[in-house]
This record gives sequence, C-alpha cells and structure tokens, in this order.
Amino acid sequence: MSDIIQLLPENLANQIAAGEVVQRPASVVKELMENAIDAGASAITLIVKDAGKALIQVIDNGSGMSETDARMSFERHATSKIKNLSDLFNIHTMGFRGEALASIAAVAQVELKSRKWGSELGTFIQIEGGRFVEQSPCQYKEGTGISVKNLFYNVPARRNFLKSNAVELNHVIEEFKRIAIAYPNLFFSLYHNELEIYHLKSGNLKQRIVGIFGANYNERLVPVKESTEILSLHGFVGKPEFAKKTRGEQYFFVNNRFIKNNYLNHAVFGNYEDLMPSGTYPFFALFIQINPATIDINVHPTKQEIKFEEDKIVYTYIRSAIKHALGKYTVTPSIDFESDVRLETFERSKPFISEKQAELSSKNILQQRAKSTLKNWEKLFSISQEIETEDYAVLKPGSNIQSASLFAENDEDNNATSFLQLHQKYIISPIKSGFVVIDIQAAHERILYEELLQKMQQEKMATQQQMFPQKINFNPADFSLIEEILSDINHLGFDIQKFGNHTLVVHGLPGNLTDENIEQVLEQILEQYKNNLSVLKLNRKESLARALAKQQALKPGTVLKQEDMRALSNRLFACAHPNKSLDNRPTYVSFNQSDINLKFQQYT
Ligand code: ADP
Ligand code: MG
Repeated sequence: MSDIIQLLPENLANQIAAGEVVQRPASVVKELMENAIDAGASAITLIVKDAGKALIQVIDNGSGMSETDARMSFERHATSKIKNLSDLFNIHTMGFRGEALASIAAVAQVELKSRKWGSELGTFIQIEGGRFVEQSPCQYKEGTGISVKNLFYNVPARRNFLKSNAVELNHVIEEFKRIAIAYPNLFFSLYHNELEIYHLKSGNLKQRIVGIFGANYNERLVPVKESTEILSLHGFVGKPEFAKKTRGEQYFFVNNRFIKNNYLNHAVFGNYEDLMPSGTYPFFALFIQINPATIDINVHPTKQEIKFEEDKIVYTYIRSAIKHALGKYTVTPSIDFESDVRLETFERSKPFISEKQAELSSKNILQQRAKSTLKNWEKLFSISQEIETEDYAVLKPGSNIQSASLFAENDEDNNATSFLQLHQKYIISPIKSGFVVIDIQAAHERILYEELLQKMQQEKMATQQQMFPQKINFNPADFSLIEEILSDINHLGFDIQKFGNHTLVVHGLPGNLTDENIEQVLEQILEQYKNNLSVLKLNRKESLARALAKQQALKPGTVLKQEDMRALSNRLFACAHPNKSLDNRPTYVSFNQSDINLKFQQYT
C-alpha cells in the first residue's frame, strides 16, 4: 500500500496558521503596530479604510529592514527577536513568534516599503495570498510602511464572518488605544476613511489618557504608584463616581503588554464595592512591571492572557495598592447613593440577563402581542365577561385605557380606589382571587420595549422640533456606534443629524420626551446599547428598543395617579410577555385569597 501522509504546501500551512493570528482587521492592526514599536519607532501612523476591511496601513519611523530582512520577514518562524531558548524566558519585545507577517500575507494583498537607517535605497515587496509578486529597490524614507489590503480576499468564509464596519472599527480603535496607552512617549495617529480620528502627541500617561478619553478625564483620575522588589505598579484608577455601566475602560498592562485577567480586575473592583452602585465599573489603566521569568505569556495565541507564578501575591498587592491610592486621595462619592433613585436603575441593569431573552426575538413578540391581551387577562383574572380583542390591539402608548378595565370592580363609582401605590415602587391591586403586586419599573420597561419594537415596524413617529438645536460631541468609537442606530432612532421621533466627524446636532425629540438632558439620554442609551450588543447579543433593533426602554422607564420614586396605574396595568397585560421583566425577573406577583386566608388561620 502506498504512503498517504504529505507535507502541506507552504501557502496552505500559512493560511491555516493565519487562522490563529488573524481573526479580524484589529488583529492585523495589533501585529503591525507591535512590529513598529519593536523596531524602535517614535512615530506611528495607522490608516484604515472601511474599518480595515479594505485597507490597514501602518507607517513607522523605526529601524527599517535591509533587502534580505524585508524578504525574510514574510517567512514563517522568521524573527529577529529571539535566537535561543533562554531568550524565550526573557522577552522584552512585543512579538517573538515570527508568524505575524507570514500569516497576514497568506490572507491579504500586502505591500511593504522599508528603508534601513543609513541605507541609500529602500526595498519594495508585493505579496498576495502568500505568493511573492514583486521585489524591487525603491525610494523611501527611513522606516517601514506596510499596507494590508482586502483582508481575507482569498478566504471568503472568513471575510463573510466579519462584522459590520461599526463593530470592526470599534475593535480596531480598541487595539489602537491599548497600544497608545502603553506607549505615551510615542506619537500616534489614526485615520479612518481619510479622517484623522486620533492625533496623540507624545507625553506622559495622564496626557495620553486625556488625549484618548477626553479632557473631562483630567479630574477623574487618581494616580497609583507602588513598588517592591518583585513587582511594581503604576498608573491611574478612575474616581468611583465616574464609573460606567459597561465594561471596556479597564486596561491592565504587564511589562507594557495589554492583558485580560478577570482575577486581577477583581483585585481593583474589590476596593470600590462600597463606593459605587453594583454593576458599574471604574476606569483604570494600570501597569505591572514584573520579572518576565515569573510569567508565562504564551498561554494564549494572541498573547492577551498570561499566567503569574505567584498570582495570589500579585492580587493582594494590587488590591492594597489601589486601596492605598483611593484612601490617599480621600475619594468619597459626590453623590448620595441612598437618596438617588437612579441607583435602582443601576442595580436592575446588570448585564447577566438570560440567554432566553435573546430567543424572544422581535418577530415573535410582535406576533404574540396581537394575540396576547385577552389570554393574559383571562389567565390572570379568570373572568367570564366577553372582551373584544380589538380593544387591546389598538392600545397606544401613554393612552389612558378605560375600556374593559378588570381591576376596577367598583368602576361605576369614580371615586373608588382600586390601585394602591406602595413605596413609590409597586402597584397593588385587588383582583377577584386576591391581589397582584406590580413592579412599576420592571413593568414599564417591558411595556416600552414591546411598544418600541412595534413602532419600529410602523410609520415614523412625530417629532417635536427644538427651538435651539443642540450639538453633542462623541468619541470616535461611540460616534460610529451612534451612526449605526441613527436611522432607527430618528424613526422613533428623534431628529438627530450628523455634523462633522464626531458631532451630532439634535433638532427634534419625540413628543413625549421633554425637558430632558438629551446629551445624558443619548449617553445612557449608548451605554445600554453597547451592553446589549456585546453581552446579550441582541440584534440592532432589539438592542436599541431595550436601551431606550431601560432609559425611559419610570424609576422608583415617581408618584402615579389612579389613571396612570390603570393605564400601566392595561398596557402591561397587552404585552406578549407581560410576566417577565427585561432582566428575566417577574414584573408582577399575585397573591391568592386562599393563601391569605390560610395565613390568618395559622395563628388562630
Ligand atoms: P515577530 O514580530 O514575532 O518577530 P513578525 O512576523 O511580526 O514576527 O515580523 C517578522 C520580523 O520582521 C520581525 O522579527 C522584524 O525583524 C521584522 N519586522 C517586521 N515589521 C517590522 C517593522 N515595522 N520595522 C522593522 N522590522 C520589522
Ligand atoms: Mg510581530
């Protein structure tokens, strides 16, 4: 029998290896920027088009490459960074596996121009899908420029797997930020579709953070600086009152390499427990310097996860260093959480919500809403009266529904009270079989969510034009997300237009939104939206509906009139899923008269 094992062709081997290194445009950004840093560049420019799908270009003023090195750099396992095994345990460069360029070149169209310091001429190399197309001498400034075009052009399955431009750009920006924070002494700039969205002059860490996150971070930061013989820690943590509801502004660097490590995050967060509402996360950018021999950075192919030999010591050290820093700056929250009703909102919107939530797709909800009303009422109140389903099918948000109100058994008497508000948080209503307690906020969120989903399918809502249009600035990542949902938002009665690169102008609001701080409203919607996309994996419309519902729902502390409570109950039971809050908790609980009777009998 003939032998069957063969060696994979070089090309194919590289393509397979690429799967590990190159997942998306952001992975290319990371590898190319790290190479520029390893080459000792002091200025690095990143240019992307179509979120990196069309082009990723990195230009540096680093050491450059000789003709031979330029060619060699695309070979697999070609690296100038380690020479022997002992180097592997003492790594001071970002890269060392010698795989990145080979992998990238296997799945894209790549052009490289490089001139080594002191050389007269540069080298030009063109390579497509791992095949060399051209190599020639060229004029070029000292340093290196690499263009990666049409990523995955030869691997359609992977190209199709890429997310929307807004999502991919977000990843690109995130990689860029991580590197820019790690190297505040270098100049960085980032262009997307010809627009410069970051221009970061070299400076200190605080200046860099402010350059990236905005001038208002100036007063939000508390410095951290501690060191012992085995490790040192420095950087900044955010003041608790500026904590955000979404994760994403937590940056740990170990020997200047960005890492993800929940265990260490916890060491930081632990210090904030009593200072912030739960479900919020403080900013931090913290740098751990530690002997490279005591960590293993090779546990994850993209090198974002590391293992510490002494992780408990590192944890304790970080925990107490942050405690010390916060204590030193006597950071006390400037808002009184006890009396702030918004605290409730924070607590309710913890991101862990059910997987099931995602199953409740908007389509199902819309179909079920039409049928649900009657069923829900009947189930809950077991009434015998004939009810016209149409009464409920036309329920309008905010309308005060009087028809077929089943709560008010003594409806003829207009003064009769059938709803009772408890602790400005619950509605209690007697029903034939006992009583129900409705959680106002949970119920209202459910109502708004379903109604908003419905409105998105219908005609555009009316807009109340503003006398004084308001301009709002966003950071580039948030701006691209807002762009993604702008037409849906406007469909719901907002009139918000783009104005320049990072700015929106609010010309009008839906009629029911008045006197609101629209900037804050949009910020909260965005925070929620990000969360919904990333944690719950909802689609765009569902994420938006959920975010708006959470933002606009009645909060505890709102006093409701009889008719408001009646309308709220009616709208709730017109929902497709009236009994589940958006966080998959009950919106109401019912108590049976027989249970109540029993309670009293127990004591006689
Ligand atoms: P690694 O970074 O792990 O060594 P890469 O495939 O990323 O592997 O790069 C291969 C080699 O090419 C590097 O070791 C380095 O010598 C050279 N190189 C890559 N990019 C640059 C650059 N921008 N400037 C100078 N040399 C570079
Ligand atoms: Mg590299």
